[in-house]
Parts: sequence; structure tokens; C-alpha cells
Amino acid sequence: MAYRSPVSEIRFILDKVVPLAPLSATERFAEATGETVEAILTEAGKLCDEVMAPLIRNGDLTPAKLENGVVRSSPGFKEAYEQIAEGGWVGIASPEEYGGMGLPLTLAIAVNDMMSGANLALQLNPLLTQGQIDALEHHASDELKELYLPKLISGEWSGTMNLTEPQAGSDVGALRSKAEPNGDGTYSVTGQKIFISWGDSDMTKNVCHLVLARLPDGAPGTKGISLFMVPKYIPDENGEPGVANSLKVVSLEHKMGLHGSPTCVMSFEGAKGWMVDGPNKGMAAMFTMMNNARLNVGVEGIGIAEGAYQKALAYAQERVQFKPIIEHADVRRMLAEMKAEVFAARSIALACAVAIDLGHATGDEAWAARAALLTPIAKAYGTDTGMWVSDQGIQVHGGMGFIEETGAAQYFRDVRVTAIYEGTNGIQSMDLVGRKMMDGGKAAFRLLQEVEEDAKAAREALPDLAEQVWEAAETLREHTEWMIGQDMQDRFAGSVPYLKAFARVLGAHYHLRAAFAEGAGSRHAKLAAVYIRRLLPQFAAALAEAREGAAGLYALSVEDLSA
Ligand SMILES: Cc1cc2nc3c(=O)[nH]c(=O)nc-3n(C[C@H](O)[C@H](O)[C@H](O)COP(=O)(O)OP(=O)(O)OC[C@H]3O[C@@H](n4cnc5c(N)ncnc54)[C@H](O)[C@@H]3O)c2cc1C
Repeated sequence: MAYRSPVSEIRFILDKVVPLAPLSATERFAEATGETVEAILTEAGKLCDEVMAPLIRNGDLTPAKLENGVVRSSPGFKEAYEQIAEGGWVGIASPEEYGGMGLPLTLAIAVNDMMSGANLALQLNPLLTQGQIDALEHHASDELKELYLPKLISGEWSGTMNLTEPQAGSDVGALRSKAEPNGDGTYSVTGQKIFISWGDSDMTKNVCHLVLARLPDGAPGTKGISLFMVPKYIPDENGEPGVANSLKVVSLEHKMGLHGSPTCVMSFEGAKGWMVDGPNKGMAAMFTMMNNARLNVGVEGIGIAEGAYQKALAYAQERVQFKPIIEHADVRRMLAEMKAEVFAARSIALACAVAIDLGHATGDEAWAARAALLTPIAKAYGTDTGMWVSDQGIQVHGGMGFIEETGAAQYFRDVRVTAIYEGTNGIQSMDLVGRKMMDGGKAAFRLLQEVEEDAKAAREALPDLAEQVWEAAETLREHTEWMIGQDMQDRFAGSVPYLKAFARVLGAHYHLRAAFAEGAGSRHAKLAAVYIRRLLPQFAAALAEAREGAAGLYALSVEDLSA
């Protein structure tokens, strides 16, 4: 079965579970009506199903390659990219004054979900450009905006993010790239960056690198980092690609998956750059890009999970072992739980997107705090879901899942990196229990209050499910109060299971909302029962692990671990 974009499922979530209605009620997003959503999702869905999805194996079997210093993309990618650009899909949520559609980020997120399921390697290119647009919109001078934004939004040029260096991965502050002032307002950027996704491309006329580097007097650590726009071709007086800049792709990484996306080692050799925002403000600007990208990477996991689920579902109906394997209880369990996980992760990601949009449209700090709280959860749970569902997808296929021809293994290989890049899921979890709880847990408690109120409202219609969700939220609230009293080392030691527990409770909450909206006995109520009765109970085990703190881990010395 070919991939089919989950248009109606996303529509349902935006109607009934994390409604877009409050957003269309704002002046800024008044155009985001049900009809617009339908039109956008349907059109994007066609592009995903008919143009992007058929190329997914091309990316895997014929990876991007480096030829004479230039990246050649996988067969068909260039043509497909042109359609993405022509359709205006890069700039769905970008400002209209620079050629974007000006729609809510929520719609861009929904489209990115579908595109990731269709062809993650290709989708990563416009995704990075979208992050760059966001960073420039909020931090660049008007001059830079006018030069770059229209080209990036139209998809004529693409954008990359250059943070990682061999010694500076999670510890970005350890970077050594330098930027020397040229005396004319520009800078000479020198350094080596590794793991740069789509660091070059034959799909666009220019590749614009946002590079983190340190000024000569920049303090050590993240405080002394600045951000520079370093284009592959320096724009001429007409804003068209002019002379080549002093930078090159040194090599491409050989990866376990995502072969269609070139991962480049970049060398900047006194390349001409323009500072974005002020000196030493690089991390703030990069955070704008990274926050957008974190949610989008979560959504990459969800898209892959969708694709893997669809493939497994089709196979389970065709494959006969005594009877079609979908009739075996264990296979039915796998499929039901896969579907329930995808729904939960998608709802959390869309809830995060709606919170971001409402924060922008209303200026209400509570929405911004909600978005900040949900971002690490959406990223880590979305990508964990991508890994777990694609793993189960292989299992449903039996031996054929291990054989590359079915394509089940590709989902598993492709999605693995999503739990690593844009901040590993461990780093996301530490962000949740650290920075995101610096408000004393205010945003978390407010959200849990809503979960409990919704559960109370559903008590009469769905007594068993509602009670279970209410109790889980109450337990999580108590645990959160306890955790806030612990020191950081103990919080960090339990942060990954804590995030998982939080995601479980939220997943159950959105399932319950769907069930309540559709009524007992509905398809969504049955799916909610699978999630709440079978998967939600895992939250208690996760919290038990989260409460263990750090001491027991360090009691086991390095020598003990090595014995
Ligand atoms: C395919 C691919 C594409 C990529 N694309 C880009 C890109 O476009 N641009 C870019 O700049 N980078 C990119 N990256 C880099 C990516 O963001 C980094 O790999 C990631 O941030 C992790 O850094 P690292 O690999 O150095 O791992 P490390 O930082 O060495 O981490 C190793 C392990 O230690 C843990 N760890 C590290 N520090 C801490 C800490 N303080 N507390 C607890 N645990 C910790 C990590 O969670 C992880 O489990 C890409 C990577 C890959 C593989």
C-alpha cells in the first residue's frame, strides 16, 4: 500500500482535540478557518502522496553524493523540491510581506508531519530553511531580511544551521569557529563544522549557512557566541548569487539511515559573513531557530511513525499464517498500540504548535509558557514514538521486516537520528525538569489542572477512562511538586522517565478528549481505551524510576561498570 497522508486525522485533531478555533478567533490568524485548513491539508497531502512518497526508496538506495565539491541529490529529489517550492510550502507560516502565506505555524507543523511520513530525507531541506526564516525574521537587520527572506521563503535558496563541531556537540559553548571583523561591517568566518544537514544542494541556487562563531573578544562558553549569515554565493548588487564564498563541503558522512539527506563536513576558510543580531547574541538567535526545529523534529518522528504504521497495517492484512496475521491477538495488539501512540504524539505536537501561535497572536505569556513546556515533550515523545512504532512495524512484518525490500527497515533506520539531533532526547528531558520548571512548575500545574478538569467533565460519559486519567494527572502533579524540591543532579537522573510519564499523561488526556467528543463506542473511544488502559499505566513505572535520583547510579562506579 502506498503512503496516504493522514489528512482527515489531522483535521479531526484540529477540530475536536486541540481546536484551531481560538486561533481563527484572533485578528492575526482570522484566515485560518476550517476551509483554509481543509484546502491546505488536502493540497499538501496530494504533493506528499503523489510526488514525495514515491521517492523515499531513491533516497535510501541512491544517497546524495559529493561530486567535485558539489552535492548531487538523490534521483527525483530536485524535481520534487521544485514542486515543494512552487507550491509555496516552504513559507506556509512565513510573513506575507516577504512572500509567505502568513498562516499559523500549526498548519506548517501539520504539513511537515505529512511530508516527513512521505519522505523525511527530502523534507529535512525545507524544514531547515523554515528554521532559518524564523531566526532571521526575529533577529536579523532589515537589510538582511530584505535580501534573504524572499529567496528563502520562495524556496529559491535553502538554509542550514551550523552549530556542531568535532569537540562541540551537546556542549555548543565549546565551539572554536572564529569570526574576525573585516572593517566594512562584514566578518571573516573560519572553522570546521560537522554533521551539517543539507550543507550543500543542487536543488537550490544558493545555500545560506547560519554559522555560530566567536568574535576575537568573545567570552568562552555560550555567552561569547555570535551568529553569522554565510552564503555559499555572495549576493551581487541585484541580490542574485554572485561570487563563490570561501567555504566548501569536505566530505559527506556515511550514515545508518536518512541517506537522501547529505550530512556534510563543512570548512569555512575566511568566508564572508554578516552578523545576525548583535555581538554575543548568537545563542539567543539560534534558540529561536532551534525551538522551531525541535517541534519539527518531534513531528518528523510522528510522520515516520505514520508511514511505518500504514505499511505494517497493509502487510498484516495480506500476510496469511493460518489466517491473516491481523487476526492474531498479538499482531492486533501491536497495530492498535502503534495507532494509539501516533495519535497521542500528534496531538501533543499540535497542542504545542497551537500554544506557540496563540502566544504570538495574543501576547499572553501563559501561552508562551505552555509552548515552552510542551516543546521538549513534543520533541522527545514524537521521536521516541517514531522509533518505537517503526520497530514494531518491522516486528509485524516478521522476517520480511528485516529484509530491505519491504521498506519497513528504512523507517527504523531513518528515524533513529531524530532522537539525537536538535538536542538529544536526554538534553530535552533535562530542559523539561530544569529550565522549564524554573517557574516553580506553574506552567506544568496549569496544564495538569486542565487535564483534571477535562477528566472530571468526561466522568459521566466515560467513567472508567476518565477516572484513570484523573488519577494519573493527580499522581504526576504530586510527583512534580516533589521533584521541584530536589537538586538538579537528582532531577537530571530521572528526567528521561519523568518526561515519558508526562507524555503518557498528556497522551491519555488528548485521547480522552477525542473519545469524549465522539462519544462512547466511537472509533476514537475504542482507540482511547487502548491507550489509557494499556499504555498509560506505564507512567507509574516511569515515575518510580524518576524518583530514584542520582545516588544509586553513581554508587555503581566506573570500575563497577567496567567489571
Ligand atoms: C544525521 C545528522 C544530522 C545532523 N544535522 C545537524 C545540522 O544540520 N547542524 C548541526 O549543527 N548539527 C547537526 N547534527 C549534530 C547533532 O545535533 C549532534 O549530533 C547532537 O547535538 C549531539 O551531539 P554529539 O553528537 O556531539 O553527541 P554528544 O554531545 O557527545 O552526546 C553523547 C551522549 O552524551 C549525552 N550528553 C552530552 N552532554 C550531556 C549533558 N550535559 N548531560 C547529559 N547527557 C549529556 C547525550 O545525550 C548523548 O547521549 C546532526 C547529526 C546527525 C547525526
